[in-house]
Amino acid sequence: MKTPQHEDHQHTHTTDFNQLLKANGLKVTKPRLRVLQVIADKKTAINQPELEKVFGSEIDRVTLYRILASFEEKGILHKVLDLHGTATYAICSTKCSADHHHDQHVHFICSVCNSVFCLDEVAIPKFNLPNNFSLHSIAINAVGICDSCNAEIAI
Ligand SMILES: [Zn+2]
Ligand SMILES: [Zn+2]
Ligand SMILES: [Zn+2]
Repeated sequence: MKTPQHEDHQHTHTTDFNQLLKANGLKVTKPRLRVLQVIADKKTAINQPELEKVFGSEIDRVTLYRILASFEEKGILHKVLDLHGTATYAICSTKCSADHHHDQHVHFICSVCNSVFCLDEVAIPKFNLPNNFSLHSIAINAVGICDSCNAEIAI
Protein backbone atom coordinates (compact mmCIF):
# COMPACT_ATOMS: atom_id res chain seq x y z
CA MET A 1 0.00 0.00 0.00
CA LYS A 2 1.23 3.43 -0.90
CA THR A 3 1.56 6.09 1.75
CA PRO A 4 -0.47 9.21 1.01
CA GLN A 5 1.49 12.07 -0.49
CA HIS A 6 0.85 15.63 0.58
CA GLU A 7 2.95 17.44 -1.93
CA ASP A 8 0.23 18.72 -4.20
CA HIS A 9 -2.31 21.49 -3.79
CA GLN A 10 -5.24 19.10 -3.75
CA HIS A 11 -7.71 19.33 -0.95
CA THR A 12 -7.48 16.70 1.74
CA HIS A 13 -9.33 13.45 1.11
CA THR A 14 -11.82 12.06 3.57
CA THR A 15 -9.60 9.13 4.53
CA ASP A 16 -6.86 11.50 5.67
CA PHE A 17 -8.98 13.30 8.26
CA ASN A 18 -7.89 11.15 11.19
CA GLN A 19 -4.32 11.82 10.25
CA LEU A 20 -4.96 15.51 9.66
CA LEU A 21 -6.39 15.95 13.17
CA LYS A 22 -3.55 14.03 14.80
CA ALA A 23 -0.92 15.94 12.80
CA ASN A 24 -2.40 19.15 14.22
CA GLY A 25 -2.39 17.91 17.79
CA LEU A 26 -6.16 17.55 17.92
CA LYS A 27 -7.87 14.50 19.32
CA VAL A 28 -9.92 12.57 16.78
CA THR A 29 -13.54 13.05 17.81
CA LYS A 30 -16.73 12.33 15.92
CA PRO A 31 -17.89 15.98 15.80
CA ARG A 32 -14.50 17.09 14.42
CA LEU A 33 -14.56 14.40 11.74
CA ARG A 34 -18.15 15.22 10.83
CA VAL A 35 -17.39 18.94 10.45
CA LEU A 36 -14.41 18.15 8.20
CA GLN A 37 -16.46 15.74 6.09
CA VAL A 38 -19.32 18.17 5.55
CA ILE A 39 -17.04 21.10 4.69
CA ALA A 40 -14.81 19.02 2.39
CA ASP A 41 -17.83 17.60 0.52
CA LYS A 42 -19.13 21.03 -0.39
CA LYS A 43 -18.13 22.71 -3.63
CA THR A 44 -18.48 26.09 -1.94
CA ALA A 45 -17.46 27.52 1.42
CA ILE A 46 -20.06 27.08 4.18
CA ASN A 47 -21.04 29.35 7.07
CA GLN A 48 -21.84 28.46 10.66
CA PRO A 49 -25.66 28.86 10.40
CA GLU A 50 -25.66 26.46 7.43
CA LEU A 51 -23.53 23.98 9.37
CA GLU A 52 -25.92 24.27 12.33
CA LYS A 53 -28.76 23.31 10.01
CA VAL A 54 -26.81 20.30 8.70
CA PHE A 55 -25.93 19.00 12.16
CA GLY A 56 -29.14 19.84 13.98
CA SER A 57 -28.89 18.46 17.51
CA GLU A 58 -25.88 16.28 16.59
CA ILE A 59 -23.38 19.06 17.37
CA ASP A 60 -24.37 22.01 19.55
CA ARG A 61 -23.57 25.60 18.57
CA VAL A 62 -20.83 26.20 21.09
CA THR A 63 -19.01 22.99 20.16
CA LEU A 64 -19.33 23.85 16.48
CA TYR A 65 -18.01 27.35 17.10
CA ARG A 66 -15.01 25.96 19.00
CA ILE A 67 -14.29 23.35 16.33
CA LEU A 68 -14.32 25.99 13.58
CA ALA A 69 -12.11 28.35 15.60
CA SER A 70 -9.55 25.65 16.36
CA PHE A 71 -9.52 24.40 12.77
CA GLU A 72 -8.92 27.92 11.53
CA GLU A 73 -6.16 28.46 14.05
CA LYS A 74 -4.46 25.18 13.08
CA GLY A 75 -4.58 25.89 9.37
CA ILE A 76 -7.15 23.20 8.61
CA LEU A 77 -9.80 25.66 7.44
CA HIS A 78 -9.63 29.18 6.11
CA LYS A 79 -12.27 31.82 6.55
CA VAL A 80 -13.72 33.97 3.76
CA LEU A 81 -16.32 36.69 4.22
CA ASP A 82 -19.27 36.49 1.85
CA LEU A 83 -21.17 39.46 0.40
CA HIS A 84 -23.06 39.99 3.65
CA GLY A 85 -19.88 39.85 5.73
CA THR A 86 -20.77 36.42 7.10
CA ALA A 87 -17.76 34.18 7.76
CA THR A 88 -17.69 31.12 5.52
CA TYR A 89 -15.23 28.25 5.87
CA ALA A 90 -13.34 26.17 3.32
CA ILE A 91 -10.81 23.37 3.67
CA CYS A 92 -7.18 24.47 3.43
CA SER A 93 -4.56 22.98 1.19
CA THR A 94 -2.44 20.39 2.99
CA LYS A 95 0.41 22.88 3.06
CA CYS A 96 -1.31 25.12 5.57
CA SER A 97 -0.14 25.09 9.17
CA ALA A 98 -0.82 26.98 12.37
CA ASP A 99 1.82 29.58 11.54
CA HIS A 100 1.24 29.90 7.87
CA HIS A 101 -1.69 29.70 5.53
CA HIS A 102 -0.86 29.01 1.91
CA ASP A 103 -4.31 29.63 0.48
CA GLN A 104 -3.03 32.14 -1.99
CA HIS A 105 -5.93 31.69 -4.34
CA VAL A 106 -8.68 33.98 -5.51
CA HIS A 107 -12.13 33.63 -3.96
CA PHE A 108 -15.14 34.05 -6.20
CA ILE A 109 -18.36 35.27 -4.65
CA CYS A 110 -21.59 34.95 -6.62
CA SER A 111 -23.70 38.11 -6.41
CA VAL A 112 -26.86 36.09 -7.13
CA CYS A 113 -26.60 33.13 -4.72
CA ASN A 114 -23.85 34.53 -2.43
CA SER A 115 -21.83 31.29 -2.73
CA VAL A 116 -18.10 31.51 -2.06
CA PHE A 117 -15.82 29.41 -4.28
CA CYS A 118 -12.12 28.71 -3.77
CA LEU A 119 -10.51 29.14 -7.17
CA ASP A 120 -7.47 27.00 -6.41
CA GLU A 121 -6.19 27.28 -9.95
CA VAL A 122 -6.26 31.09 -9.96
CA ALA A 123 -3.07 32.25 -8.28
CA ILE A 124 -2.73 35.64 -6.68
CA PRO A 125 -0.26 37.78 -8.65
CA LYS A 126 3.03 38.68 -7.02
CA PHE A 127 3.68 42.34 -6.35
CA ASN A 128 6.30 44.43 -4.64
CA LEU A 129 5.58 46.13 -1.36
CA PRO A 130 7.13 49.42 -0.24
CA ASN A 131 10.24 49.15 1.91
CA ASN A 132 9.75 47.90 5.46
CA PHE A 133 6.30 46.52 4.81
CA SER A 134 6.00 42.80 5.46
CA LEU A 135 3.27 40.65 4.05
CA HIS A 136 1.20 38.22 6.14
CA SER A 137 -1.73 37.47 3.90
CA ILE A 138 -3.49 38.62 0.77
CA ALA A 139 -7.18 38.27 0.08
CA ILE A 140 -8.60 38.77 -3.37
CA ASN A 141 -12.32 38.39 -3.87
CA ALA A 142 -13.77 38.31 -7.34
CA VAL A 143 -17.50 39.08 -7.47
CA GLY A 144 -19.70 37.92 -10.32
CA ILE A 145 -22.18 35.22 -11.31
CA CYS A 146 -21.36 31.56 -10.74
CA ASP A 147 -21.81 28.75 -13.26
CA SER A 148 -25.09 27.42 -11.87
CA CYS A 149 -26.68 30.88 -11.60
CA ASN A 150 -25.53 31.63 -15.16
CA ALA A 151 -27.13 28.37 -16.30
CA GLU A 152 -30.43 29.39 -14.70
CA ILE A 153 -30.31 32.83 -16.26
CA ALA A 154 -29.75 31.25 -19.69
CA ILE A 155 -32.99 29.25 -19.47
ZN1 LIG B 1 -5.04 27.77 4.91
ZN1 LIG C 1 -24.55 31.71 -7.92
ZN1 LIG D 1 -10.22 29.31 -0.39
